[in-house]
Amino acid sequence: MQSVNVTNVEQESLNPYEIVQKQIETAASILKLPENITEILKRPKRVLTVNYAVKMDDGSIEVFEGYRSQHNDALGPTKGGIRFHPDVTLDEVKALSMWMTFKCGVVGLPYGGGKGGVIADPRHYSLAEKERMSRGFMEAIADFVGPDKDIPAPDVYTNAQVMGWMMDTYSKMKGKFSPGVITGKPLSIGGSQGRNEATARGCVITIKEALKELDLPVENVTVAIQGFGNAGRIASRLLADLGCKIVAISDSQGGIYHSEGLDVDDVCVCKDESSISNYTAVERHITSDELLELDVDVLIPAALENVITSQNAERVKAKVIAEAANGPCTPEADKILNKNGTLVIPDILANAGGVTVSYFEWVQNLANYYWTEEEVNDRLQQKMTTAYNEVKEISEKYAVDRRTGAFMISLLRISEAMKARGWV
Ligand code: GLU
Repeated sequence: MQSVNVTNVEQESLNPYEIVQKQIETAASILKLPENITEILKRPKRVLTVNYAVKMDDGSIEVFEGYRSQHNDALGPTKGGIRFHPDVTLDEVKALSMWMTFKCGVVGLPYGGGKGGVIADPRHYSLAEKERMSRGFMEAIADFVGPDKDIPAPDVYTNAQVMGWMMDTYSKMKGKFSPGVITGKPLSIGGSQGRNEATARGCVITIKEALKELDLPVENVTVAIQGFGNAGRIASRLLADLGCKIVAISDSQGGIYHSEGLDVDDVCVCKDESSISNYTAVERHITSDELLELDVDVLIPAALENVITSQNAERVKAKVIAEAANGPCTPEADKILNKNGTLVIPDILANAGGVTVSYFEWVQNLANYYWTEEEVNDRLQQKMTTAYNEVKEISEKYAVDRRTGAFMISLLRISEAMKARGWV
């Protein structure tokens, strides 16, 4: 477990599993939920660890360790992405599966939470190696997942192509075309219109609601985005289209700043070629940490966990933080941000657009009937604004921050299902 020193000698845990347990406890205590409900929800129901061998292009063998965690299935099958990252840990995957349960609950999806991860850096592998690594993981977890059991999707460093390979492997193993086993697939094999943009689109919907609440016109709002993967990149495009000024962007190599706003399309071209830190039409180059402390209206952490902690929260100046990433702010950071009046749109709400359109994709797969992009986006808009307003309402009613409010909405839905099923 990693931890850092806090001035008042308190230890701030950066273990996401401990963090999510704390978040559950906080919300459950305000709702005065019976302890047996909290005890069940504080740990995943089932966790699988796999080690599987992959033949590399040079003939050597690499053994990868991966996990799939299924947290709670009271509301339906478990659902959540698979990430490939060198820093994946079992506790992280468990925590991410728990956040998925609460994310699905906030938007009212008939799912519980799941998550998978493989300890690997896919940036170091050829396409063929990545394909064998992806297929190998699905082969190892195939009996654990399924369209009415546990449905994976993309996450950090996985994409539609990876989902396509995994769906193919699963379908071959089961001897039948099974698009409903995984979402975020390419359109040609049962993917949904709008899925690729969904996380960013959902996040932008919540940002617009927050700006409305703060009486800030969207036009010329300044935005800093940490992380330029699927969510960060598409959010930058959508926000620029709305007239926002994207003043700073970073990726894992570093960041860029321009007070007049960056040309997002141009930055994308540079990113496709190498890293955005090589982009030259900037006022200055910055670090990813500096980006978090810029004087902007909206900050979007769209990379990994624990980037805003007790160590830097006091220096964060943004009026709104929209958590496109999972777990970017620690509970200690939350306390400081709330004290300073920052409106934090919590991950389980801000990035719920991805799993929402994954749900739409799964529904389309089960019905074998496909919707237009407009239908998908309209339904996403509806779900996200309803969820945003429900979270706002409960948070105001109980005088709690939005994260606690979002957990409370979910807890009410999950505990009702647990009671109805006779679990508690
Ligand atoms: N990985 C995404 C998330 O963290 C999407 C999950 C899904 O679509 O199932 O929400």
